[in-house]
Amino acid sequence: MSSKTFSDFPPAGFKGVVLRPGDPGYAEARALPNARYATRQPALIARCRDIEDIVMAVEYCAGRGEPIAIRSGGHAIDGHAMPHDAFVIDMSLMKHIEVDPQTGVTTIEAGVLLGEMDAATQRHGYVVPSGTVSTTGAAGLTLGGGIGYLTRRFGMTVDNLLSVDVVTVDGRRLSASAKENPELFWGLRGAGHNLAIATSFTYRAHKVGPEIASGLIVYPIEAAVPILGRIDEVMLAAPRELTLYPVILPAPPLPGLPPHMIGVPIFVLIVVYTGESAKYEEALTGVRPLARPLADMVRPSSWLEANSLLDVLAPPGRRQHSRGGYLAAITPEIAQTAVDLVSRAPAPTGPGPSVAIAFPCLGGANFDVGEDAMAYSREGAYWLWEVLGQWDTPDEDAQYEGWVDGVMNALNPYSLRTGYVNLSTDRGAEWLRNLYGSPEKWQRLCALKSEFDPRNLLSYNKNIARAQAAAASLRAAGVAWSRER
Ligand SMILES: Cc1cc2nc3c(=O)[nH]c(=O)nc-3n(C[C@H](O)[C@H](O)[C@H](O)COP(=O)(O)OP(=O)(O)OC[C@H]3O[C@@H](n4cnc5c(N)ncnc54)[C@H](O)[C@@H]3O)c2cc1C
Repeated sequence: MSSKTFSDFPPAGFKGVVLRPGDPGYAEARALPNARYATRQPALIARCRDIEDIVMAVEYCAGRGEPIAIRSGGHAIDGHAMPHDAFVIDMSLMKHIEVDPQTGVTTIEAGVLLGEMDAATQRHGYVVPSGTVSTTGAAGLTLGGGIGYLTRRFGMTVDNLLSVDVVTVDGRRLSASAKENPELFWGLRGAGHNLAIATSFTYRAHKVGPEIASGLIVYPIEAAVPILGRIDEVMLAAPRELTLYPVILPAPPLPGLPPHMIGVPIFVLIVVYTGESAKYEEALTGVRPLARPLADMVRPSSWLEANSLLDVLAPPGRRQHSRGGYLAAITPEIAQTAVDLVSRAPAPTGPGPSVAIAFPCLGGANFDVGEDAMAYSREGAYWLWEVLGQWDTPDEDAQYEGWVDGVMNALNPYSLRTGYVNLSTDRGAEWLRNLYGSPEKWQRLCALKSEFDPRNLLSYNKNIARAQAAAASLRAAGVAWSRER
């Protein structure tokens, strides 16, 4: 049961919906896709309707020194959107989307989900490069970076961000862009969860579709090492219009896959190709000779179909844990390690796959932007590795968590020190400190945090102030962090 009531909220003029434990609608509002947080009871959920509502909620919290939780899509794996006992600013009623039909420039409010943004932009033939699961919040994704099937072609979501409107923790309304508040804009692109409450985002969009090609090519697990061992050279030669996400997982029920294969480890290439259809086969010339597939399910599709392909693999309502990191290259050794780990994974139980190790492809346009251009770090990161475990009962927590963390420990020696803040649960202070790249970038972020959130009211996140404090106490004890050794 929550111990706080915030009984004097809302102030007069608040237009949104206020929910406390026991109120009709509270249980639905606090639910997150990751069922591990189902027992948490935020003290108050303020569903804001507009910026004025957000300013009122922020000023209320700031006046009491109360930490502010923010829920946009509620998708983040650590459940930071709905902490126990917290005051939550919930963006889910703020869904306005505006697309300029001529230029594609798209402005969304902070409660918009990726599928909603895709549907609105595709009406005019455009896409804002974002992530791969349609129920993810655009806000949390953008503030961390935003990786998806168009990263190789058009860069990260943050590379296509033109401006962000925010409310600061002292209630000021600011716009951040290359021209206005440029230093804040630098930090919001990669470490934004720590700096301010984002209320709307304006993006550059790109013409994509209407018809593209997407789907899965399914291979026997024996093909994983031969294909992954050559995938670097394949992708270096491939056009930017092609993206491959290799995944190793126990086979879910897939059309075309014989029933005896279900639950057996397989190797899958998720293929999304947005170039001219006549050149699709040419784009795949590096892949075709490497192994014979069990099933090739790549078909002409719409962008909306392609960008929700993965929705079924991570259904809401299951217990989830994930970790991730960057790789400069995928070697046969890394591929074999991943195959061995999946073959030792806990046996599948509920719907959808129980575990997966994926290698989302970066490179291409991701490297058109310099490492220091914004907080988000990318130098030398040609691939991500991401491990996901999904299960259904608390009894299985330790088993799956242990397996996911075992994958992290096995892949750590091959990983860069930098990484992508959104695609992992929190891995601690030293991890966060190294995640953004050089010590100079970290200092810049610490300075921004001190300027825009000196009391660390935005603390429900992978937190810069806590990491900074941990570094200071280690230094005081004479212990150096790994980068400083
Ligand atoms: C199944 C799954 C698939 C995913 N796929 C991808 C992918 O393809 N590409 C990718 O890049 N990422 C992906 N992610 C990671 C995703 O980008 C992050 O989880 C992201 O934080 C989700 O945004 P959200 O708005 O739903 O977050 P929430 O859970 O609402 O919030 C997450 C964090 O962001 C902060 N926050 C949220 N809204 C605001 C705001 N308006 N202003 C300031 N801070 C805010 C919160 O305080 C919290 O710390 C995936 C995650 C999952 C679980």
